Amino acid sequence: MNTVLLTDSHCHLQMLAIDTATVLAQAQAAGVGYFLNVSVELDEYPALKQTCAEFAPVFASVGIHPNRAANQPTSVEVLSELASAPHIIALGETGLDYFRNPADRVEQQQCFRQHIAAAKQVNKPLIVHCREATRDTLQILRAEKADAVGGIMHCFVEDWETAQQAMDLGFYISFSGIVTFKSATALQQTAKQVPLSKMLVETDSPYLAPMPHRGQKNQPAYVRHVAEFIAELKQVDLTELTAQTTQNFFRLHGLPDVSL
Ligand SMILES: [Zn+2]
Ligand SMILES: [Zn+2]
Repeated sequence: MNTVLLTDSHCHLQMLAIDTATVLAQAQAAGVGYFLNVSVELDEYPALKQTCAEFAPVFASVGIHPNRAANQPTSVEVLSELASAPHIIALGETGLDYFRNPADRVEQQQCFRQHIAAAKQVNKPLIVHCREATRDTLQILRAEKADAVGGIMHCFVEDWETAQQAMDLGFYISFSGIVTFKSATALQQTAKQVPLSKMLVETDSPYLAPMPHRGQKNQPAYVRHVAEFIAELKQVDLTELTAQTTQNFFRLHGLPDVSL
């Protein structure tokens, strides 16, 4: 049997209270086989490296979350050196979050630009976090020519027009559990429009558990609920959505083809 496995394109394994072996076993039982363990600060680097060494289907990124940018000044040199390691497949999560830290705009923007420059140096894609900062995020991506590497608009909650602009810059649109929420009708319309060839699914665990687990601690196994919900929404087979989103993930990161 050649079962295609889902990919959780954005999770924070080190923030989960359960040990990684158990988390991954539960995910595998739910048909989730690949994971991008996303960095939010550089101090996590040794832990991320260790997890990659221990668990083959786990990939890692390196970066500083926009909400931590002001407290953790860095440089393009530091980021690109860390990002050049073979187990690191992307830069981020980076971007802009004016919702939680509106006072840090200048530091966030500088840190975002540094991540883009480092990504271009090592030729690896970007993982972009954008909250209440759509215009500036797109403007910086354009100004810094992020289309040279592309990446992922993670936990996407914007409208179709923003999705189109991001896709034009070579970015994939990654949907999280938010799309399954009853109130997310506008986002569900956007998910209907985003082609499967440009789509990824994620948990952002331990945050944002999808229905029917809303309010609980999220974990990578639950990405299956996100995938099932979108498959129903788009009237496609779950197997098709699984194959396409996993293939997208491997293609974006230049990973050797999974057997699909
Ligand atoms: Zn984020
Ligand atoms: Zn995240």
